[in-house]
Amino acid sequence: MKKPFPVPFIELSHQRRLIRKELDRALKRVIDSDRFVLSEEVKTFEAAIEKTARVGHAIGVASGTDALYLSLWAVGVKPGDEVITTPFTFFATGGAISRLGAKPVFVDVEADTFNIDPRRVEAAVTARTRAIIPVHLYGLCADMDPILSIAKKRGLSVIEDAAQAYGASYKGKMAGSMGDAGCYSFYPTKNLGGLGDGGMVVTSRADLNEKIRVCRDNGSRRKYIHDFIGVNSRLDELQAAALNVKLKHIAAWTRERQDLAAEYARGLKGLPLEVPFAPIKSGHVYHLYTIKTEHRDALAAHLGAHRIGCGIYYPLPLHLQPCYADLGYRKGSLPVAESLPKVVLSLPMYNGLKPAAVRAVTACIRDFFAKHK
Ligand SMILES: *Cc1c(COP(=O)(O)O)cnc(C)c1O
Repeated sequence: MKKPFPVPFIELSHQRRLIRKELDRALKRVIDSDRFVLSEEVKTFEAAIEKTARVGHAIGVASGTDALYLSLWAVGVKPGDEVITTPFTFFATGGAISRLGAKPVFVDVEADTFNIDPRRVEAAVTARTRAIIPVHLYGLCADMDPILSIAKKRGLSVIEDAAQAYGASYKGKMAGSMGDAGCYSFYPTKNLGGLGDGGMVVTSRADLNEKIRVCRDNGSRRKYIHDFIGVNSRLDELQAAALNVKLKHIAAWTRERQDLAAEYARGLKGLPLEVPFAPIKSGHVYHLYTIKTEHRDALAAHLGAHRIGCGIYYPLPLHLQPCYADLGYRKGSLPVAESLPKVVLSLPMYNGLKPAAVRAVTACIRDFFAKHK
């Protein structure tokens, strides 16, 4: 093996350098306009997303977390209701449900896709179930057809958590466009990331669009007249301006991630590990590139010793989080979701990562397994 060189787990500087001039111009335009909230940049960004995601309405909000909260509120989730979701996700998915006084009901995941197992969803539906939140984890869409058909049959709303999946697709449809509403996050490290917090709800339902648009602005349709109690959750102009710049590059950046994933798959072929499951035409956007191996801790230490960054998403499933102790789940409740934290390992994946760096990572992993036969 050649002398190792550092490969950080994530690096935003390549992207920044590529668009720095465009960003400077866009931010300056906002600063000099003296309009910082819900103005031209947000309108332009919402219209662009409506077009690319092929949805009727896009509503810029303050974060992905708020996008989930506002969507659940808009479909009518109330205290005491139940919302079915996956335990193997970022905490915000469950937190948004709880913040409305509703109860998250966790359904186990598929070991290969890491996403909610549609075959287990229907058994979790009760008279109190109002909605299902499938999460498109790491950039791969959950198996939406069976989820949508159960929802239709049982009269439930579907809110897609597409925080990690902007640009991903499922059978030709965009992540976020298949349910009643879809939620994006523009947290800086997401595959479409802003310069701070930001989020968006997309929906083709005019009633949800109307409700969420008003709710994000303190429930006010006309200035200082409040039809209901809303929140302050607006996307600001500076974020929207930066995102308008990035949106022009996102298709190329997604292809770059997919090419890097193919490079990883080639380099890892034949090793006793699982590369990300990607059904043909899966439309995976590789927000994260996550492998599975029984030797995870030793491999992570080996990579660390060779100055290669890696990460564990997520170390503790939601149903076992301390704050959810009162939901009554125990160790063993959801065995697949509980097994994954011990075997998942996310490898470096970002725009500007060089194929040669991916080959250095895969060579380092091959070296590890040569010693661990
Ligand atoms: C990032 C993320 C969120 C929350 O988005 P924020 O913009 O950070 O509030 C929700 N769900 C998932 C799956 C995420 O990865």
